[in-house]
Amino acid sequence: MTKKYYPASEAFAALSPPVWRASTVVFDSVESFINRKSRQPDGYSYGITGTPTARLLEQEIAGLEGGRHCAVTPSGQAALCLAVMAFVRGGDHLLISAASYGALKTYADKWLARLGVEVEYYPADISGEITDYIRPNTKMICLEAPGTVTMEMADIPAITAAAARQGVMTMMDNTWASPLGFRPLEHGVDLCVEAATKFFGGHSDLLLGAVATNNFEYFSQLRETQSIMGLQTSPDDCFLVLRGLETFELRYRRQSENALAIASWLQKQSAVREVLFPCLPGDQGYEIWKRDFAAGGCLFSFTLQQDNEQAYSAFFGALEHLALGASWGGVHGLIAFYPAQMQRDRIFPRTDRAIIRLSAGLEDPALIIQDLQAALRAYDEARG
Ligand SMILES: *Cc1c(COP(=O)(O)O)cnc(C)c1O
Repeated sequence: MTKKYYPASEAFAALSPPVWRASTVVFDSVESFINRKSRQPDGYSYGITGTPTARLLEQEIAGLEGGRHCAVTPSGQAALCLAVMAFVRGGDHLLISAASYGALKTYADKWLARLGVEVEYYPADISGEITDYIRPNTKMICLEAPGTVTMEMADIPAITAAAARQGVMTMMDNTWASPLGFRPLEHGVDLCVEAATKFFGGHSDLLLGAVATNNFEYFSQLRETQSIMGLQTSPDDCFLVLRGLETFELRYRRQSENALAIASWLQKQSAVREVLFPCLPGDQGYEIWKRDFAAGGCLFSFTLQQDNEQAYSAFFGALEHLALGASWGGVHGLIAFYPAQMQRDRIFPRTDRAIIRLSAGLEDPALIIQDLQAALRAYDEARG
């Protein structure tokens, strides 16, 4: 990381960025006040379009993504909604990966579809066959790889090539890989979304999202929509993410290594049916991951031999270190459960089993393996 400091005056400079809190931006002439909107998309006119602290974070994230522009939002979900809402209108056709982040699908089904958007899902492991789904009114394709919870890999370059041929925009949720593992903008994606809540923040103590792009027109549209919808972010949270980014690469390397060690161990356990993790040789997404991604995330899923409610209770009850909760990417290992019915109800199911999802933290993987060993023993005893 390059060395930098933040001067406030000749007598003061610090290694940490300033936190600028402001709703009101003041002007030195009535002319510049009247023309304040012309300062968008990057300048300052009112707190709703951001303060210098938000800009610092936006520049940092744009740099990581290999992009020119970025807008930060109050959460990853707000970033997903913003990326879609800024461009998709009633009458448009919207394609979404069937394994997208759940709340994006809920937003599409419960809001966009009722506003006249034709919402359609495609299989999460798709490649060039995406062409068969594109219609004359297709406005945008929403991608995510690997899929949330089920971890299917899509062929991103094949999808963006097909989209470009037909003039369709693409948006990708890149939270799992982060720009250290994959840079969507360099593979033809128009809008790259990150839930900074996860890896960027890294400490399970804030919500924040980002949309990055290289297209200035798109960026202007994003900034205007952000302001209209009131999606500005607290400068304190921007500061915390800036601080998180200082250790991001170290955390990412270590957590990804830990995830691989834990997943490889799980794969050898008799009670484990299948590990869903594209970084593991033999996984159905491994070849594409290996070809396109520079590194893997810290998050993977697995299924157990038998769906038995009592046995799952015993499994989770035996855990002493891994915390049970939603979200991931923080320094503490985290585990989550997705019941079988949820998998069977999917449009393109990957499995009909319940799924357990694990996020590796910074703990020694031996400690997590010990925890899982006890949990699997309890599971085996309870299923009889
Ligand atoms: C968590 C997550 C989001 C949403 O982020 P929030 O900040 O929690 O709203 C979006 N996409 C993926 C892949 C996520 O894991």
